[in-house]
Amino acid sequence: MSAYIPTAVCLITLVAIFIASLIKKDYKTFLTWSVIMTGMVYFPLIMGFHFSDGTYLIAGTRNPATFYIYTFIVPPSYGISVEKKKDLVMPILNLVLLEIVIINRLDLNYGLIYMVIYAYVLLVTSFFSMTIQKYYNQILLENTRITKMAMRDELTRLYNRHHLQDYEDTEQEWIPIMLDIDKFKLVNDEYGHDEGDRVLQQLAAIMLRYANDNFIPFRYGGEEFLFLSKMSEESTDKHIIDFFEAVRRELHTSDRKPKTVSIGIGRKGVLNEGSIKRADINLYICKNNGRNCISKNNEVFYS
Ligand code: GH3
Ligand code: MG
Ligand code: MG
Repeated sequence: MSAYIPTAVCLITLVAIFIASLIKKDYKTFLTWSVIMTGMVYFPLIMGFHFSDGTYLIAGTRNPATFYIYTFIVPPSYGISVEKKKDLVMPILNLVLLEIVIINRLDLNYGLIYMVIYAYVLLVTSFFSMTIQKYYNQILLENTRITKMAMRDELTRLYNRHHLQDYEDTEQEWIPIMLDIDKFKLVNDEYGHDEGDRVLQQLAAIMLRYANDNFIPFRYGGEEFLFLSKMSEESTDKHIIDFFEAVRRELHTSDRKPKTVSIGIGRKGVLNEGSIKRADINLYICKNNGRNCISKNNEVFYS
């Protein structure tokens, strides 16, 4: 079999993966594939040449196509797999072994020329790879930071309403629980906006204490908050009563005047505007019944 065919296949595959990675901006996949290609494709291929050539160990010494594989495909594919300097150990070891074989079996000049070309191509592609990797990691970090910022409310650090959309219309069933601080406007009016902000932060801190993977707190907007519960109805009711009592004990203005909340529990189901609305209706039933209570199924159920 002509050695040009596998050479061309390897090169075309690598270029195709490279272009696809650039289009998808998925540099990591490209790195992974170049490692796989180097390990899985080149070595068996080149070993094959060794055996089929029979008389000599180093493919390429009398066969130009395999020489090109070693010089122009193996080093670059090693090079583009390099993420950290220590990743250079393998390719350098490979070069040393080849050098020993070449210099031993053939002549010194050939070995030296080969070493210079191999090392040059390897270093250029490694430098290229590490530079891209550095920028790629920076962009990734920045993206994660921006995404996290967009999910959270600035004042309370709870998830915001925008992030709530990620929970809507998925298969997971949730019990939505709306809560609203009673007569909160008075805090702003009597103590100022900063004190209002502090009370909101204090409530958020209590909410976070009661939060877990099955009980997720959000700032819905203004002084309205929301929990999404994945727990059973019974456990949810118990948990929300504990939370409600904690708010009664702990939420207050800086001169220790207690602040209370009203809570509306919705029905378990897929989360959407309708299910949140049902929790909100219960919240207003609470407000109309003197506030400072929990309402469920259109009636006050704990006060
Ligand atoms: P109710 O018991 O019926 O809920 O009465 P309320 O006074 O709590 O309700 P209302 O909706 O009249 O007032 C909510 C107030 O919350 C009005 C608004 O100025 C204040 N508010 C909304 N967001 C913030 C905020 O981020 N910081 C502060 N300090 N106040 C806020
Ligand atoms: Mg209120
Ligand atoms: Mg309100």
